[in-house]
Amino acid sequence: MTTTADPRSSTASTSGTGAREPIEQVRQLVTEVPGPRSKALQERRLAVVSKGIGSTLPVFVERAEGAVLVDVDGNQLIDLGAGIAVVNVGHAQPRVVARVQDQVQDFTHTCFMVTPYEEYVAVCEALVRLAPIEGPAKAALFNTGSEAVENAVKIARHATGRDAVVVFDHAYHGRTNLTMAMTAKAMPYKKGFGPFAGEVYRAPMSYPFRDPEGMTGEQAAARAIAVIEAQVGADQVACVVIEPVQGEGGFIEPAPGFLPALAAWCRKNGALFVADEVQTGFARTGDVFACEREGVRPDLVTLAKGVAGGLPLAGVVGRADVMDAVHSGGLGGTYGGNPVACAAALGALEAMADLDLVGAARTVEERMLARLHALQAQRPGIGDVRGRGAMLAIEVVKTIEDDGVQRATLEPDAAGAAAISAACHAAGVVTLTCGTYGNVLRFLPPLTIEPALLDDALDVLETAVLSALAG
Ligand SMILES: *Cc1c(COP(=O)(O)O)cnc(C)c1O
Repeated sequence: MTTTADPRSSTASTSGTGAREPIEQVRQLVTEVPGPRSKALQERRLAVVSKGIGSTLPVFVERAEGAVLVDVDGNQLIDLGAGIAVVNVGHAQPRVVARVQDQVQDFTHTCFMVTPYEEYVAVCEALVRLAPIEGPAKAALFNTGSEAVENAVKIARHATGRDAVVVFDHAYHGRTNLTMAMTAKAMPYKKGFGPFAGEVYRAPMSYPFRDPEGMTGEQAAARAIAVIEAQVGADQVACVVIEPVQGEGGFIEPAPGFLPALAAWCRKNGALFVADEVQTGFARTGDVFACEREGVRPDLVTLAKGVAGGLPLAGVVGRADVMDAVHSGGLGGTYGGNPVACAAALGALEAMADLDLVGAARTVEERMLARLHALQAQRPGIGDVRGRGAMLAIEVVKTIEDDGVQRATLEPDAAGAAAISAACHAAGVVTLTCGTYGNVLRFLPPLTIEPALLDDALDVLETAVLSALAG
């Protein structure tokens, strides 16, 4: 281990494509977390990396496989974040590794807009086949989720000749200028970064835990539609953009009926329904795409995170007539659909089918939900347990004493969520928080996580919850 910044002596430059020892799928701590080598790297980092870039857990990773991260101190951590829903197929998925290695040797870049290559076409063929679009579909590839969302808006505006974009409370769509405008939460995503793009309007979301008791999805949709019609005007709306299960905003799953009612309103009013499946896509929620659960057929779907096993790739897939409305050359980018990222996607999509990751996500749901509900029964500060597939969360709230028993309130307990997360980190389990109020712990394991490893992570979580929250 070196503490100099000389790249030749840095551990990061260690090469080697030879056979590697497989990483045993167990949690194992050999130092405190973070350990001394991670702490030394953190010192180097603080000297040169902008403070604007944060990290949940300053543990520097050396290798990863399956659902285990190995840090520079030799600790093995259980990854319940999957790099924010990216490595759905597990770290170092062999199909992804093999295809990437081959592609790197063949060529790494030509720019599809200059001289095209088959891998891009093959990824679009797969996306068109998988996405729940009605009728013929086409796709276009980009690099990041934000870019995919920006392009979906460009396409929708061009196709409809309208300007207005409708988004929802608690939405997260990215960090570029247009997508910051679409994202709801000010801190940390927007504060001080304006002025933001115009013609973005926010409607109320269906949030069963916080909505009036018994409010149906149809009623929540009517509430949103009333806002859209009164404040935007139905004939002004180019598109309604929504995450079928909200991600950063708190893993909020709208009440059944909400998404179909919004999609029907769009169809009736000539607006496009855009499902932002950047976080929910690729088997994460127990369907290939989350909007399949209610049979919703979006006009456009945005995708990124889980598509390429960790390489940066994003896309928009949608109705062919809409995707083709844009003039030639109107969409693109230097790196969009990079051949190495496309090769990774082909490996990841193959793994998703061969390993039945849709089924795997449902198995994770079954295993985890039972444990989370059992914990909720012991700790009323877990106000809500929710999510689908391997996209699950607990919302932590303050409690009040009522007739000698503790009961949940709606008041967020961000400190409680942070304490649970910190205890998990110290014990070697990577957990993430999210939510408009910062009080949601979210769980996004690789879908391939082994049952014994998941159980071990849940034991750690249980201990953390029982000590952080009052009984
Ligand atoms: C992460 C995310 C984005 C932004 O993706 P980046 O690749 O970080 O730009 C957009 N939408 C949703 C729903 C996301 O979860």
